[in-house]
Amino acid sequence: MKKMNNLLVIIAAAGAGKRFGSNVPKQYSKLDGRSVIERSVKPFIDSVNVSKIIIAISKDDLEIKNQNFYNSKKIELVIGGNTRQKSIFNALAHAKDNYDYVITHDAARPNIIEDDILNLLHDIEETGASCSYLFTPVYDSIKETHTKDKNKYHLVQTPQISKFKDLKLSLKKCIDENIECPDESFAIEYLNLKTSKIKGRRSNIKITEPDDLDMLNKFLTRSGIGFDLHKYKNGSGIILGGCNIDCNYKIIAHSDGDVLLHSIADSILGASGIGDIGKYFSDQDEKNKNLDSTKIIRFCLDKLNELNLEIYNVDTVIICEEPKINPHRDNILKSLSLILEIPIDKIGLKATTSEKIGIIGKNKAIAVQSYVNLREKQ
Ligand code: ZN
Repeated sequence: MKKMNNLLVIIAAAGAGKRFGSNVPKQYSKLDGRSVIERSVKPFIDSVNVSKIIIAISKDDLEIKNQNFYNSKKIELVIGGNTRQKSIFNALAHAKDNYDYVITHDAARPNIIEDDILNLLHDIEETGASCSYLFTPVYDSIKETHTKDKNKYHLVQTPQISKFKDLKLSLKKCIDENIECPDESFAIEYLNLKTSKIKGRRSNIKITEPDDLDMLNKFLTRSGIGFDLHKYKNGSGIILGGCNIDCNYKIIAHSDGDVLLHSIADSILGASGIGDIGKYFSDQDEKNKNLDSTKIIRFCLDKLNELNLEIYNVDTVIICEEPKINPHRDNILKSLSLILEIPIDKIGLKATTSEKIGIIGKNKAIAVQSYVNLREKQ
């Protein structure tokens, strides 16, 4: 495939989203902190093949200026029409340069990936068609009055790629004849030009109902890592994951020294993007002396609540020579499950040694690494 960097993209964002039943148009709803349209536009901003992105917005749009791409050099705005074909046509008319191809995409399809763009470019060059679009097969039954043969049908997605001149001619004909175009491949076919289709991904859904947004939220996760190390002194036991464990050492710490909970807390705070344990529980602060570390986790869970997030799973590795962790594994897991408020099968607890070398190997310290996945509250 020859490298192209003169590709125009048009984003259809003028629809009011009547089926969405919300005051905010669906493309401006948030998915894990970023708007739907920011996600729909990002692969085009990042693509070296794309030189310009024209977004067709409604004349009453108050939100577009708040989007993170608003000041991007690639972006231009046009006022769309009262139908999709008029919006896309306005954008084509606005484009001053002569482009070979134009990609059209819905603002409310945020799950697009770079491969979609590359696959379409490849297909239109290979087939010489006037338009190439993504499709998915129909798997559910279809009825009109009787059950239809679903193998005869397929579902049409965006992005689609079209020859610039052919799309302009096709849309003009549809507008002149008052024909409603559900998508650009329809217009191309209406002018009896060739289309080609390639299989897309079912996850490239168009957000139409609030339920669709909930489904996409379920795909999104955040992950974070945590690490903590404390020195040992001679003593009669340590606390790990809220469990008292007898051994010949004691942890040197300002708090109760629960190195496992500290590491997990840092992974949660990291995944939430709100700093680390030192920011909230300074070891210089007198009131944190002998602090019960379950309070640190309680604090983290409250923060997650505020962010509408929850823990999906946690994995940890305890690194020490002594105590031996295996005899205490079940107790620690049960305790972590209660403290973290997640089932035991969502907690990984592993132990390893430092092969008797270094400060851990010489029983001068204990360390824990952890990893957490967060997701939107279900
Ligand atoms: Zn610590």
